[in-house]
This record gives sequence, C-alpha cells and structure tokens, in this order.
Amino acid sequence: MEDFYAYEELLERAYKALPERSIEQEERWEIPTLTSIITGNRTFIKNFLEACKFIRRQEKDVMKYLLKELGTQGYMEGSMLVLLGKFPNKTINDKFVKYVKNYVLCPICGKPDTTIIKEGRLKFIKCEACGARNPVPNI
Ligand SMILES: [Zn+2]
Repeated sequence: MEDFYAYEELLERAYKALPERSIEQEERWEIPTLTSIITGNRTFIKNFLEACKFIRRQEKDVMKYLLKELGTQGYMEGSMLVLLGKFPNKTINDKFVKYVKNYVLCPICGKPDTTIIKEGRLKFIKCEACGARNPVPNI
C-alpha cells in the first residue's frame, strides 16, 4: 500500500514537471484584432501588416478581400492599410475574421497551418497539419 502511494505521488510530480507551454501555444492561436482609427474621411488600420504576417498571408491578398467586402478603395501606407471612407472597427474585424475563417483556417481540422495553392484558375487551401485540400472562392 505504501508503495502504491509513493508511486502515485511520483506520477503527480512528474506531471507537474512537464512543460505545459507546447500544448498551450498550439491552442492559443487566436485571430489577431485589427486596430483602426478614423481621421477625416479615411480609416487607418494600424497593425494591418503585422496581422497579415501573423496569419501568414500576403497583405495584397487580404487587402483585396477587405476592399471588396467593404466596397471601397484603399492603399498601403507603410505598415498601415488606409481605407477611403469611415468604417467602424467592428465592421473591419468582422470581415477580417471572415477572411481568416475562409482562407487561413483548415475547414477540416481548424488549424491555421495552411497555404493557398493555385491550380489553373482554381485556388485551394492546403493544410500542413492534416493534409486536407479544399477549394476556396476567388477573391
Ligand atoms: Zn487540417
């Protein structure tokens, strides 16, 4: 009986000593939040480039999508995306989340480790985690 308890205690200690970081890092991947300010008749998305890098997509692709969804025009200024017109931060983030769900997260396993591949006129989202390949709509 004594031995059994000792073993349990050891096991518990061993679990506690395990680094939890690796598991947390994978589960903590979150869609970045875009920060924007409206000045005059323009909306400046301040962390646009940073957010694109985080989701591992070309800023011109994300920009094209946002401009189309918001029905406006815009341009890059340094690391910011400038939109012509006034857009609430929530509207911008709703569109950005939609982009990530359609073009970044694997529809099968939900992981963000994906790339967009082109085959002729078709585009696919290819998952590095589970190997799934699914068509995505053209922007
Ligand atoms: Zn997957």
